[in-house]
Amino acid sequence: VENPVLAVDIGGTKVAAGLLDRSGKILLTRRTPMSARGTAAEGLQSVFRALDAVRRDRRARNARAIGVCLPGWVDARRGTLVSAANIPCWREFPLRREIEKYSGLPVRIANDANAGALAEARWGAGAGAKIVFYVTLGTGIGTGLVINGRIYSGRAGGATEGGHTTIDLRGPNCGCGKRGCIEMYASGTAVGRRARDLLAKSAASATGGSKRRSQMLAFADGKMEAVTAQIVAKAAAAGDTQAREILEEAADYFAVWLGNMIDLLEPGVIVIGGGFSAVMMSEVGRIYQKLENWAGNPRARETQIVPARYGSESALVGAAALSMAP
Ligand SMILES: [Zn+2]
Repeated sequence: VENPVLAVDIGGTKVAAGLLDRSGKILLTRRTPMSARGTAAEGLQSVFRALDAVRRDRRARNARAIGVCLPGWVDARRGTLVSAANIPCWREFPLRREIEKYSGLPVRIANDANAGALAEARWGAGAGAKIVFYVTLGTGIGTGLVINGRIYSGRAGGATEGGHTTIDLRGPNCGCGKRGCIEMYASGTAVGRRARDLLAKSAASATGGSKRRSQMLAFADGKMEAVTAQIVAKAAAAGDTQAREILEEAADYFAVWLGNMIDLLEPGVIVIGGGFSAVMMSEVGRIYQKLENWAGNPRARETQIVPARYGSESALVGAAALSMAP
């Protein structure tokens, strides 16, 4: 393989390292545990172990660059991790310099949603478009923006935290410290929570025969606390009216927010990825319809909204793309 690249995706509990060819194809991956809550040095050792595991393979000998991504505030220009909620061992940490010192190779680092955006823009569902807006829907909502092949990261690397834009100032408190972020309405976590809240309410108010049979509860073996977004989706598909309404409400919030994003960015393609994306994409017809009212841009409905190519590997592929970006 000619000029393969090394990629590292650091998470709160594990590190994935991989070797990719120049078309974004994964040649090999290794996963090792991440020590994110000990000392800074222990955190680094976890990363080095994962890298070493890949570099032991002879195909990795020709690798000349490393891309690294992680969930948190990254200052890509200075190569530092400013802070990451799930990786508390590093604060204002010179991650790029440390990995360069250890590996002897040039390193680039980025936030994982930004890396995912780059992967989709370069090799995935956004390939060929000049402006790609990437949204990853899962436990939270992450976003990234790629313009002409480059991540737009703002003045100091903190741009495009789109999941934490407020759409209701009286909304629930978000983990980020603000209130009413779109993440509180349209993420997988939000949909599961909304379902459990509504089920608890109807259980409290139900009297005798008026209690409706909930498919959501049936799919969760009767355990309200076990109801997740995936169960809501399953129940909606099975004809549960309440589940259907919960999904439509999440899609409506998402459409309002997407309208804002389109009015602000006018992207060519919006790529939707993450574990909850398939469910949200099943509402894409409804979302397009709502954009009539929630985007002022007269061409909003020309925006392509497409499913991501990369699933759980998006960050790793993104890290590889990072090391090849201009
Ligand atoms: Zn937030």
